[in-house]
Amino acid sequence: MSMKISCGIAEDILPLFVDGSCSFESKAAVEEHLGECPTCREKYERMKMPGYFSGGDAGANDRTAVMAAYAKKVRRHRLVLRILIPAAVIILAFFLSVLGRAVSILQCQRTSEVTDVEAGTHNLTVSDLVCGIKEAEGFSFFTNSTQIVVTIKSESDFEGIVVLRKADQDDERIMLARVSSARPVCVFTNLTSESRYGISLEGVPSGNVEVSGSVGFWQAVSMVLDDLL
Ligand SMILES: [Zn+2]
Repeated sequence: MSMKISCGIAEDILPLFVDGSCSFESKAAVEEHLGECPTCREKYERMKMPGYFSGGDAGANDRTAVMAAYAKKVRRHRLVLRILIPAAVIILAFFLSVLGRAVSILQCQRTSEVTDVEAGTHNLTVSDLVCGIKEAEGFSFFTNSTQIVVTIKSESDFEGIVVLRKADQDDERIMLARVSSARPVCVFTNLTSESRYGISLEGVPSGNVEVSGSVGFWQAVSMVLDDLL
């Protein structure tokens, strides 16, 4: 489909055309007109020059200046419609899904009753354990929760492994987790209050460790993000 337009119409649309913000139909019509009209083609060549609309010295009259301003508005409007709104929707959906997963992590850790535990055992249901790395390796842990969260607090750069052992079964190693200065937290899941657990750390030269039976909200969020990204 082609539509013949006059020089006047072509001239009106040219600023939008140069700006790339006119509709598909106008674009086709202007392209067709430029193909046949040397006068408008010459105007188009001048408008294409950088600074034509902003400088004012290149011959932009009031009408084209108004159109150029309009073009800018149209472009901004389209940017909002085509990019910003979909982007906002995607970002919102992303955050809602992160929030949903974080909440489900938090729900996993609802605890039942607290039982008394024997000496040398730290009850994570009652409190977190914060101590030096070597000291932490001497403890066994009890938790009513299904998970144990280990956070390394070291000044130096490290890349190591946290080993989870079953303290009541010959110190059998049951799980491993990588930790590093960039990601100093690991979470062992699917645990049971039937067992006593112990940890040992390999490759972490010095520092403190925090052992906890529960994750905080932001920790849950960062766990979800780590999984996703
Ligand atoms: Zn023309």
